[in-house]
Amino acid sequence: MKYIVVTGGVMSGLGKGITMASIGRILKDHGYKIVPIKIDPYINIDAGTMNPYQHGEVYVLGDGAEVDLDLGHYERFMDVDLGREHNITTGVVYSAVIERERKGEYLGQTVQIIPHVTNEIKARIRGVAEKSGADVCLVEVGGTVGDIESMPFLEAVRQMKLEEHENDFLFVHVTLVPFTTLREQKTKPTQHSVKALRELGLQPDIIVCRGKEALKEDVKEKIAMFCNVRKEAVISARDTEDIYEVPLLLEREGISTYIMEKLQLEQLKKDHAWDRMVERRRKSSYGDKLISVAIVGKYAELEDSYLSIKEAIKHAATELGCKVETKWIEAEDLEEEKEAESFFDGVHGILIPGGFGVRGAEGKIKSIEYARENKIPFLGLCFGFQLAVIEAARNVAGLKDANSSELCETPHPVIDLLEEQKEVVEKGGTMRLGDYEVFVRRDTLAARIYRKKKIVERHRHRYEVNPAYIEWIEREGVIFSGTDRSGTRMEILEISPDGHPFFLATQFHPEFKSRPNKPSPPFRAFLEACINLSLKKKALPK
Ligand code: GLN
Repeated sequence: MKYIVVTGGVMSGLGKGITMASIGRILKDHGYKIVPIKIDPYINIDAGTMNPYQHGEVYVLGDGAEVDLDLGHYERFMDVDLGREHNITTGVVYSAVIERERKGEYLGQTVQIIPHVTNEIKARIRGVAEKSGADVCLVEVGGTVGDIESMPFLEAVRQMKLEEHENDFLFVHVTLVPFTTLREQKTKPTQHSVKALRELGLQPDIIVCRGKEALKEDVKEKIAMFCNVRKEAVISARDTEDIYEVPLLLEREGISTYIMEKLQLEQLKKDHAWDRMVERRRKSSYGDKLISVAIVGKYAELEDSYLSIKEAIKHAATELGCKVETKWIEAEDLEEEKEAESFFDGVHGILIPGGFGVRGAEGKIKSIEYARENKIPFLGLCFGFQLAVIEAARNVAGLKDANSSELCETPHPVIDLLEEQKEVVEKGGTMRLGDYEVFVRRDTLAARIYRKKKIVERHRHRYEVNPAYIEWIEREGVIFSGTDRSGTRMEILEISPDGHPFFLATQFHPEFKSRPNKPSPPFRAFLEACINLSLKKKALPK
């Protein structure tokens, strides 16, 4: 097994995750099987309880793990399906060690960070690597070198390097090279962070330097000399508009040649599908098919909360050759305004993402009503689906006070907890998480989009369509076109295409399965409908 460990210096938010995802992509394109692991040095067991305001999106894996959004980058860049074991947090490691201690498995020893915690970390990394059958295991150590929290992890990978064969282990350090007002590139922060690494016994093999512009040759030389690496191992990673271009940039800088030489991996034939995809993206970005999609949400100020949705839109846009401009709308603002129209001027589609809680919910419902009545393409996801059910119940089926029992007490809880859930929820609640099968009804929009009778998509929700109201809601072209196997849990709501150009909402989150070269079917179909609307608008005389 070969290992590549990625650390970060100077500051957080430099794009370490994207860097590692890109290295994985490059190695995969060169024919190697890869497996990524993300280490998060926080004490939380997982990201499930973390506030998206602070932390960005909670990403959901197929097995239901709620993880850091970097795992989403890995899945999208490397086109792999990951599970809970690919995210190692301090919480997971310590709780395993403490549990073992309670069972007496340390035979009376004093349990310490070195060796017990570090052994646990190493065993977990190696376990995932071996089980995957990959050629190369990539490990990203979250946080910044020097953080107290990441110390045990850095110590564990230091030990691993000693224990593994010399040609099987590589350290990549990601740093920042800032500019002065005189546009001079400064290497001091990089020197300091490498110094901090070396104090811990880690010598980077490759230094990836982030910065506004490409590194100058003499700056590369300086970093090489002061940080004790070869000049070819100083990789310049300048800012780019398109994150999917990063593997190409790194490859052009010679990172793959260097990695393969160091790890003694043979240069195999390269697959160019990714390069072609990036080229298509570049072309569509200056094409004339410009689509405007409104996303009505609560965390509109923090776009990272909806990262996977943004990426899924990009994937579909690349395939359809259009450029999408997203307009973020704060749901609460809509509640104050009588008319929804002013918010949606020039918009070709409306998307309501997942969410929790009552704040902004009525604004979202108002947007759905606007989309339905004005025949604007609509895509509702999770909470967006539940609110679409409420909107249909109120305004199509005439149940004026229909609502969700998550939001208020109501005589018509069309969205409610299923009986068996009620008890559990009282004890702290359970979410329905991860992959579940969805059965698609024949001759529906959903069937046309997916072209399959059975699909598997990822979930993250507690509430469900109340089975008592299904018949009430299904009228005037509004139907549930996807359910679970038993037919009691509703998964897809649509308006039949004779009544609306595109109106679809899903209880699941299709965005988590979208990949740059394999867009998610609902997103693709939604954007296609948006393009149609924009063409129609253009054709109309002004
Ligand atoms: N709040 C809703 C529920 O718990 C929807 C969740 C979501 O959108 N992820 O069912």
